[in-house]
Amino acid sequence: MPEFRTVRGMRDFLPDEARIMKYVESKARGVAELYGYKEVMTPLVESYELLATKAGEEVRLRMFSFKDLGGRMIALRPEFTPSIARLVATTLRNEPKPFRLFCLGSLYRYDEPQRGRYREFWQSDFELVGSDKPEADAEIVLLTNSLMNGAGLKNCVFKVGHVGVIRGVLSEEKLEDKVQNAVLQLMDKKQYEDALRLVKDSGISEKCLALLQNLVNLKGNDVFEITKKMKEHVGHYEKAMAAADNLSSILRLIVESGCKIEMRVEAGFARGLEYYTGMIFEVYVPELDVALSGGGRYDKLVELFGGESTPAVGVANGIDRIMLAMQEQKVKLDEAGEKRVVVISVGEETKAEALRISCMLRNSNITVEFEVMGRKMAKALEDADRRKMDCAVIVGKRELEQGAVVLKDLKKREQTTVGIAELAKTIRG
Ligand code: AMP
Repeated sequence: MPEFRTVRGMRDFLPDEARIMKYVESKARGVAELYGYKEVMTPLVESYELLATKAGEEVRLRMFSFKDLGGRMIALRPEFTPSIARLVATTLRNEPKPFRLFCLGSLYRYDEPQRGRYREFWQSDFELVGSDKPEADAEIVLLTNSLMNGAGLKNCVFKVGHVGVIRGVLSEEKLEDKVQNAVLQLMDKKQYEDALRLVKDSGISEKCLALLQNLVNLKGNDVFEITKKMKEHVGHYEKAMAAADNLSSILRLIVESGCKIEMRVEAGFARGLEYYTGMIFEVYVPELDVALSGGGRYDKLVELFGGESTPAVGVANGIDRIMLAMQEQKVKLDEAGEKRVVVISVGEETKAEALRISCMLRNSNITVEFEVMGRKMAKALEDADRRKMDCAVIVGKRELEQGAVVLKDLKKREQTTVGIAELAKTIRG
């Protein structure tokens, strides 16, 4: 038999890693609860067509797609947004707006595996549907910041931009959508020279090219200074100007909300997904060179799936990368320190009673591992020590006759006889 391994780009999560992942997921669920986002679950498999529409070349080429036995072209979801847009365009069509949706789960992209980049990864996704107002964009940024804080991360930087600025210039210059998409894809990959060459080859004036070059170079932490300069640059392009105005309204709301978020505005910032129409952002920590989260406004996507024109803004948070950042920053988990107990029966005849006591403790919300290996007492205690259990409940015939058991504190190495009725309370201390 060959030695089986995980498929390239796929990982097993052993208990310690799985625990941290569940911890981050619980923080994301907590944020959803606090901001009023309702969880929905959509299928892992969707039609290829749905997922390929407007995903952007980058993601489209990296989908795990195949024909099912019925000959349908399907794919594993590479992101949540198309499924949400499908829901909004169909089942939730008549739902009063706004509504706030949250989903959490695994996604699949045929990316080149490396640190922080896997072929199976997890996201928590927040979508605010129905509002085109800057406060909706601000809310998505604020809740992403709440998640980063909840995960215990420090020094997060939000890189913020607006696809409407560059798109505004390019569309007023009559550049086709297809070329615009290609330009923004190149900018997303920071291949600015190639992007500008493509614009130049499309026959745009030198003056406009110089303006785009200025925009690409325009970035900084003084967010209002940058948006002011942005407006000065694009002054005579109406759509680009409206986009820059929209961006500064969003930034103002975020800053004036009093939440301390470190932001950096980049006028030439673009994201690989084609469906963005407005503000876009990504979150970074100094320890990693890949983004932890990415999001933005997508006002045209629902329409594309046959729904009514519906503005929406959302964010996808990479759970795997948040875990990596927590590891880098040595974040301590603030888990409830519940005691862990092992229950050991001294003899064959006390086993059933030991099981009954285990059930009783679990009913009081105490974690109990039952000794199932038939080990002798000394070996069973040694094993409990190795597994860092807090205490052992030893169920013997002599104590049972008095309605009691022996409770051994494995940390302090002390033992006492405790009445069964008081056992749960005594363990809690
Ligand atoms: P996107 O859907 O491309 O906007 O990505 C949103 C977030 O998902 C990113 O900021 C990452 O945290 C995470 N992500 C995207 N692709 C991968 C991947 N291949 N492996 C791990 N995390 C990923």
